[in-house]
Amino acid sequence: ASSASASTVRQVKLDRESELRIEVANDSSLRLRVLNGTAEIFGTELPPEIWLTLPPRLKFAVFTWYGATIEMDGTTETDYTADETPMINYVNVHAILDGRRNRAKASSSDGSSTSEGPRVIVVGPTDSGKSTLSRMLLSWAAKQGWKPTFVDLDIGQGSITIPGCIAATPIEMPIDPVEGIPLEMPLVYFYGHTTPSNNVELYKVLVKELSQLLERQFSGNVESRAAGMVINTMGWIEGIGYELLLHAIETFNVNVVLVLGQEKLCSMLRDVLRNKPDVDVVKLQRSGGVVSRNVKYRQKARSHRIREYFYGLANDLSPHSNIANFSDISVYRIGGGPQAPRSALPIGAEPAADPTRLVPVNINQDLLHLVLAVSFAKEPEQIISSNVAGFIYITDVDIQRKKITYLAPSAGELPSKYLIVGTLTWLET
Ligand code: ATP
Repeated sequence: ASSASASTVRQVKLDRESELRIEVANDSSLRLRVLNGTAEIFGTELPPEIWLTLPPRLKFAVFTWYGATIEMDGTTETDYTADETPMINYVNVHAILDGRRNRAKASSSDGSSTSEGPRVIVVGPTDSGKSTLSRMLLSWAAKQGWKPTFVDLDIGQGSITIPGCIAATPIEMPIDPVEGIPLEMPLVYFYGHTTPSNNVELYKVLVKELSQLLERQFSGNVESRAAGMVINTMGWIEGIGYELLLHAIETFNVNVVLVLGQEKLCSMLRDVLRNKPDVDVVKLQRSGGVVSRNVKYRQKARSHRIREYFYGLANDLSPHSNIANFSDISVYRIGGGPQAPRSALPIGAEPAADPTRLVPVNINQDLLHLVLAVSFAKEPEQIISSNVAGFIYITDVDIQRKKITYLAPSAGELPSKYLIVGTLTWLET
């Protein structure tokens, strides 16, 4: 985008406890700064007077507790101020969590169970503001010096890494409103699909693996145990989606359930969790600023996310095109396919598809345009229980020469020869 003319520069005065809700234009970015007062974007305070550049299509709000004047330069899809927000309720939740962190830290020396900080899960329908609330709670905690762990179970629109994954990372600083979560060494498990219905069992297995890994880290780290975790979930809350929420609550030993904008879900959860007095179920209002995103927008967002992994947010990374021999790599798919040939089964028995079976995949044209994960596994048997080092994108398969061309974030050898494939595709544009 060209630099905007002076006439597009404008100021907005915000009263205390109000916010400026903005959707950046589709084809140009927006510059914005705080002229006076103090303001934050989703829990992260903005530096005074410094211009920020918000990328196209970003939807966000600049909130102020005590009043501020905001200056904008550029065009927006929409921008309006709102003085009705649930922010007071949200920050009250933060205050309660903070108290629990302090208590956990104080009692960490006596090794009692109270040394466990809050384990928060944020649930609710799609577009209820789950990711945004998770982000605010994490940024507010980080501002106070905690390093809470962010766990993202949303395989559709994850904010830690590319779609199709579940991941966790400690949040050491308030989350940058533009850059998002820094991609330094998150713990990532590759599910390989953008909806859990592809393989519910596998999803559960990976959630379990991630929780066990975090549990091990917590046991050796008083500080992160006291800071606790914030778990973001998918918007699928019916049927199997609901079952998966219960599974996550159980698996991560959640003690605070925050339900956004749904009475029914809240009462259902209160009901099933009533025999667990140490689990609090809290209903919270959805913000009127949350923007609904349609299927097409979500697909686009997924594709952008993958692009960002290889090329960087501002096209500032240069991925490498590498070539490998077929014999240098082993590709596996998890699940599907009959467990045993019919001939090996007792008469009358049907071969069942084992959802967590490791299936070797032939290298051929079918891999073109797929995104594969590079496992940390040393042996094929370890693939399901191993997290992944990163991702590659297949750009060419030469059957004759038995060579495969792929895009990777860097040059050089892959950290492992074991690759996992699912249904995650990307069309480089
Ligand atoms: P999903 O279930 O699809 O993951 P979600 O419940 O996590 O959705 P969010 O991603 O938090 O919802 O919010 C949806 C969109 O609305 C995001 O683009 C977010 O930046 C935007 N948004 C959230 N709160 C506000 C607000 N107060 N003002 C403006 N935009 C907002």
